[in-house]
Amino acid sequence: MAAEIIDGKQVAARMRAELKEEIKKLKERSMVPGLGVILVGDDPASHSYVRAKQRACEEIGIFSDDNRLATDTSEDEVIALINRMNAERKIHGILVQLPLPSHIDEYKALLAINPDKDVDGFHPVNIGKMLLGQECFVPCTPHGIVQLLLRSNVKIEGADVVIVGRSNIVGKPLANMLIQKSKTGNATVTVCHTRTKNLAEHTRRADILIAAAGRPNTITADMVKEGAVVIDVGVNRVDDPTRERGYQLVGDVDFEAVKERASMITPVPGGVGPMTITMLLYNTVASAQRAMRQA
Ligand code: NAP
Repeated sequence: MAAEIIDGKQVAARMRAELKEEIKKLKERSMVPGLGVILVGDDPASHSYVRAKQRACEEIGIFSDDNRLATDTSEDEVIALINRMNAERKIHGILVQLPLPSHIDEYKALLAINPDKDVDGFHPVNIGKMLLGQECFVPCTPHGIVQLLLRSNVKIEGADVVIVGRSNIVGKPLANMLIQKSKTGNATVTVCHTRTKNLAEHTRRADILIAAAGRPNTITADMVKEGAVVIDVGVNRVDDPTRERGYQLVGDVDFEAVKERASMITPVPGGVGPMTITMLLYNTVASAQRAMRQA
């Protein structure tokens, strides 16, 4: 039987509606959540992400302070802007769009962000807190994946989870979240990468299989256990001359074949993607709520 499709757009829309209600309550107390955005250079993909984030902020009532800087902006100027945002009371979250041009040290920029405004959850203080199971900002894509699983009633506790990919923004934080002794954790997690021997042997054991490799067809049907839940994080452009733009977006999973074996599966696009921006909004609202409590 074909798998149930986990509709990320629908789950994201529900969460955004919930956030809108939270923002309404904050506004009644004269608090408007604010997101400061820094985009350096003219990378088209980064501009398109930032536009999507701005639209999402506008839709739910988050104030967005956008700063588009020229490619030759110096590292000192970027850090000075981060410092200004750190001190600005109406900014509750700071987003530095990556990648930065090569003359700017991304790690230095990241370290400059006040961890209390690090809504991307990449600052080492937040990563460390996450590891220790303390309250913190959690990186948006892994957090979005956990929300997709929870809201689709997938049982995480006790599940054998296999993650393909060990990046700092997806694989590593996700593995960490899923092993926490908490209601969103308690899974048994295996993390695979390019040095893993016999990838299929691992993936076939997974009750929940998460592909974050960034390569089309990394996961084929023979690599999936019957009835597994499959989450496809990958976003890959493949040439498609039949489309006006000349390419189509695909995930890391052979969707058509795998959906015949899995019990649930996320599509690309429309699966994990919409959740990532939603969790950025979530973190910004949480930061404004914390500022309100501390006022
Ligand atoms: P990344 O930094 O390139 O990491 C990819 C990881 O996958 C690495 O750990 C790599 O192993 C592993 N890998 C690659 N090919 C493999 C293979 N054939 N077998 C086993 N492991 C393999 O990528 P990322 O930033 O985590 O992103 C992964 C994908 O998710 C990309 O397509 C990206 O566009 C997408 N993404 C989507 C969202 C969203 O919101 N939808 C957000 C973030 C990322 P090594 O460490 O050994 O090199």
